[in-house]
Amino acid sequence: MNYTFLLVEDTGSVRRISLNRPQARNAQSQQLLDELDHAVSEAARDDAVRVLVIAAAGDHFSAGHDLKEAQAKRADFSVEERWAYESLRYFDYCLRIWDFPKPTIAQVQGACVAGGFMIANMCDLVVCSDDAFFSDPVGHTLAAAATEVLIHPWVMGLRKAKEMLFTGERVEAAEAYRIGMVNRVVPVAALEDETLALAQRIAQAPPFGLRLLKKSLNRSLDVQGLRTALSAHFDTHQLSHMSNEFKAVRDKGLAQAIQRNKSGDSA
Ligand code: ZN
Repeated sequence: MNYTFLLVEDTGSVRRISLNRPQARNAQSQQLLDELDHAVSEAARDDAVRVLVIAAAGDHFSAGHDLKEAQAKRADFSVEERWAYESLRYFDYCLRIWDFPKPTIAQVQGACVAGGFMIANMCDLVVCSDDAFFSDPVGHTLAAAATEVLIHPWVMGLRKAKEMLFTGERVEAAEAYRIGMVNRVVPVAALEDETLALAQRIAQAPPFGLRLLKKSLNRSLDVQGLRTALSAHFDTHQLSHMSNEFKAVRDKGLAQAIQRNKSGDSA
């Protein structure tokens, strides 16, 4: 399968899927997300693949969902249409990465924002470069209740998640490392090699044992209510799309709202 917005490469038993829309800071269009879900499903089925790396071409991991496309194609969606669109492409696609049957590593540089934050944090491990930053300005700027998958408190702690979401501010790479949200921070020039070396180390482990181990580790969050909390937040997020606050922002332009918020971070 040839992809327009992805690069897929194998190094031994490590598969790397890279978002490849660098001119748009890897903003996630519908086609990019459909391609990513397809590539992830293929990697899940392929016994030759033991570890999956999700990376991105260019200076930034991802600026988030493609808000220009959202404004053009989905601004007038009914509740039913939006629920169907976002439950498949944002929620289910993300959870399929979370449930990927083998270890996954996010390889993150530059901006890792909103929808980009969701995808990176679906991975088991995160390696980032020292120029990486993480943010989710959706609540602060767009009046929607954060992004669709509220993984934030589970990967960065409740206190820090509230600070990041309430302020719309960035968490820099060093801080992300300090709070345990990322596993390793490396120089930009070493990001690809360091991530691959980590993936290859993991790929040496017996694959069936790893599969069982990952299930158990993820279930340790399921018993704390992860899935129920994520699923409940998805519905709450849908409600926030119908608020007068959100409509006011939407009518002025979603992408422009982000630009008005000076930082240039997308969603
Ligand atoms: Zn949404």
